[in-house]
Amino acid sequence: NIEKFDVIVVGAGPAGNAAAYTLAKAGKKVLQLERGEYPGSKNVQGAILYADALEKIIPDFRDSAPLERTVIEQRMWVMEDESYVGTTFRSDRFNQMPGNRYTIIRARFDKWFSEQVQKAGALVICEMTVIALLRDAAGKVIGVEVDREDGKIYADTVILADGVNSLVASRAGLREDIKPAAVALAVKETIFLPKETVEARFNLKGSEGVVIEMLGSISQGMAGTAFLYTNKDSISLGIGCMLSDMKAQNTTPAELLEKLKQHPSVAPLIAGGETREYAAHLIPEGGYHALPELYGEGWLLVGDSAGFVNAVHREGSNLAMTSGRLAAETLLELGEKGLPSTAANLARYKARLEDSIVLKDLKKYRNIPDTLHSQRQFLSDYPALLNGAAHEFFTVDGQDKATKEKAIFNAFRERRSLLGLLGDAYRLWRATR
Ligand code: FAD
Repeated sequence: NIEKFDVIVVGAGPAGNAAAYTLAKAGKKVLQLERGEYPGSKNVQGAILYADALEKIIPDFRDSAPLERTVIEQRMWVMEDESYVGTTFRSDRFNQMPGNRYTIIRARFDKWFSEQVQKAGALVICEMTVIALLRDAAGKVIGVEVDREDGKIYADTVILADGVNSLVASRAGLREDIKPAAVALAVKETIFLPKETVEARFNLKGSEGVVIEMLGSISQGMAGTAFLYTNKDSISLGIGCMLSDMKAQNTTPAELLEKLKQHPSVAPLIAGGETREYAAHLIPEGGYHALPELYGEGWLLVGDSAGFVNAVHREGSNLAMTSGRLAAETLLELGEKGLPSTAANLARYKARLEDSIVLKDLKKYRNIPDTLHSQRQFLSDYPALLNGAAHEFFTVDGQDKATKEKAIFNAFRERRSLLGLLGDAYRLWRATR
C-alpha cells in the first residue's frame, strides 16, 4: 500500500514555496522536499522582494513576513575606476502606499515562507535530496527517488523547483546542462553596520531603504553588474558576471568583489562594517532563447530551474513565485476538470506563462544576452565615455562651453565613429523591443 501524493515539489525556494502553498491551500496532498538543513539555508539572493508576486499568493504577507526595508530610492550608477555617472529616483509616495519592493534576507524569508506552506497543509521534509525521477513504462514521470534507502515516492505530478542547476531535470534528460554563456556567477557579502549608521549614510528614516545598481568598469569589460542594497542593520554588496567571461579572463568573483569594495564611491558606504556572510551562486541569465522545455509527461519546471530570470531588471524571485503559482493553478484547473497531467494538458501552464510577466518580459528582452555578448562597447566604451564627458563638462577650467561640447563629441566619435554610434543606438533599440 504505497503512499501517493497529488504533487511532489522539489525545492523550497520562492518557486517551490509558491507552488506548494497554492496547491496545499486548495486542499491538494503535497509533499515538498528540500535538500538544505532548513528552507533558505542554501539560498542566495541580493535581495529585493517584489511585493506584487507574493501578494497574489499571500495577500496579507506584510503582517508576518521578515522584511528588512521598503525601497524608496533607486540609484543607477555607470562607473569608471574613479567616478560614476548616476541617476536617482527617490519618492515619498513609496511611503504612502503598501510597500512595492522590499529588501529581505533570504534565509529568514524562505524559512517564513516555508512555515506558511506547512500551515497550508503541505508535508515539508528538509535534508532530503531528490536524486532521480521515477517514470512508468511509457516514460511518464510518476514520482521521485530520494537519497534514502527505499527512497521511492510517488505522485501524479512532479514540480521541479530545484534552482539554477536543476540536476534532477538534467540527469533525467528533461533539460540540457546549463552553459557557461547562459549563466552568471554572482558573489555577495553581507556587511553589518549599526542601524543608525546605515540610515545616516543613505539618508533614511524608519524602514526606508535604498538600492544601488551598478555597471561599467567594475565588471572589467565582462557582461555583468553589481548591486548594493540596504537592510536594517547591514548592507548587501554583490557582483555577478557571465561565467564564460570569467573563465576567459581568468578572474575570480572574489577579486571582482574586493575591487568593488575599494571603489572610491563604494568604500565610504561600507566603511567600518563587519562582513559576516559571504556567498556565491549562479544566476540563469541566458534569457528567452536559452529556455528549456517547460513541461512534459507528469512534470513541470518553475523558477530558476526553468531559467526565468530577467537580468535587465534584476528580477528572479518574482518570476520564480509567479511561475510556481501558475504551475499550481494549472494543476488545480486540471484537477477540477478531471484531466491527467499529460504533456498535452500541461501545455496550459505555458499558455499561462505566456500571458504573464514571466514570458512577456523574457520575450521582450530576448536579444539582450546576445547583444551584450557581441557588443562589448555597451559595458566598457560607453561607461568610460560618459564619465569622461561628465568630467569635462563639470570641470571649470577657462575653456568655453562650445569647445568643451566639441571635445566631448569628438571623444565619442573617435572611440565609436559616427556610424558606430548610430549602429549602437539601433542595436540598443532592437535589443529592448
Ligand atoms: P532557489 O531559490 O535556488 O531554490 C531552489 C531550492 O531547491 C533550494 O532551496 C535548493 O536547496 C533546493 N534543491 C536543489 N536541488 C535539490 C534536490 N535535488 N533535492 C531537494 N532540494 C533541492 N532575484 C530577485 O528577484 N531580486 C534580487 O534582488 C535578486 N538578487 C540576486 C542576487 C544574487 C547574488 C543571486 C545569485 C540571485 C539573485 N536573484 C534575485 C535571483 C533569485 O535569487 C532567483 O531567481 C530565485 O532564488 C529563484 O528561486 P527558485 O525557487 O527557482 O530557486
